[in-house]
Amino acid sequence: KRSETDAYVFFEASMQARVQEQSRLLLELHHAVQHHEFVVYYQPLVRLVDGRFCGAEALVRWESPSRGMVSPAEFIPVAEQSGLINQIGMQVLEQAAYDTVAQIEKGMWAADFQLHVNLSARQLLSADFIDKLQDVLSRTHLPADNLTLEITESQLMSHEQLATSGLTKIRSLGIKIAIDDFGTGYSSLAYLHQMAFDSLKIDRSFVHSMTENVTNQRIIEAVVAMTRGMDVHLVAEGIETQEEAIRLREIGCHYAQGFLFAKPLPLAELPTERVTDKLPTR
Ligand code: C2E
Ligand code: MG
Ligand code: MG
Ligand code: MG
Repeated sequence: KRSETDAYVFFEASMQARVQEQSRLLLELHHAVQHHEFVVYYQPLVRLVDGRFCGAEALVRWESPSRGMVSPAEFIPVAEQSGLINQIGMQVLEQAAYDTVAQIEKGMWAADFQLHVNLSARQLLSADFIDKLQDVLSRTHLPADNLTLEITESQLMSHEQLATSGLTKIRSLGIKIAIDDFGTGYSSLAYLHQMAFDSLKIDRSFVHSMTENVTNQRIIEAVVAMTRGMDVHLVAEGIETQEEAIRLREIGCHYAQGFLFAKPLPLAELPTERVTDKLPTR
């Protein structure tokens, strides 16, 4: 009996500490939004046929005065819960759009460069999202053609109806849609066919160790087979070895992203157009 009480007291104390930490984090996030403390890193997207650096994913980092560089895994969930993701997401999009326009103007990035920006379901479901999106494009002069918005398969699955109409509106602006972390959200083939999207990003968990794990490789092969004739770009996430890149290319995957080519980096540290030394030509 005694120890039960002690355990309870301990549990209550640690719960309270967690709640306190979460509310401190939320308070600091509000401050961060007001003071634009977010920075955008970029991770190259590589075309597997020739190793061309043909796009990049914008990945947010929080440069907190008190915490240092904070990774999205630590603050995105709180931002989503509180709704702050709406403002954070817009700040990321705007910064990334300005950067992309400038890089293309300087001739650093090709005219058809694809900027990928992550989108949370919360943003997609907010009433003024489409207006804000159009507003950013016109202010930054980023052509809709250069933009792909990524949304995770699991977020789409939990807001099916609304999300589907949101995606259709986005695509009517000429912006492309990528389904992120594909394979972790249990969507059916029938469901997939009625969705409006342009690329599928195969989740890192299937790519990781695919060269040792036959099951993972078979899953990727199935995705390739399933999307044949669907006019969909297949992107593999989380490529860490040259062997994985070569296998993926053989299987028929079009694009890849991963530490093999580059980690997410500040704009100034990105590699220039070709990253072919990581990928033997055929
Ligand atoms: P994601 O969109 O699936 O982004 C890919 C994540 O995988 C990135 O983590 C990237 O650093 C990591 N990654 C890429 N290649 C490799 C690899 O070869 N090996 C390993 N181990 N990891 C790799 P990051 O930057 O920490 O972002 C985590 C997640 O946070 C993102 O997953 C995305 O869901 C979310 N996120 C990031 N930026 C934003 C944003 O601006 N808005 C929203 N809504 N979510 C964001
Ligand atoms: Mg993503
Ligand atoms: Mg992903
Ligand atoms: Mg992910």
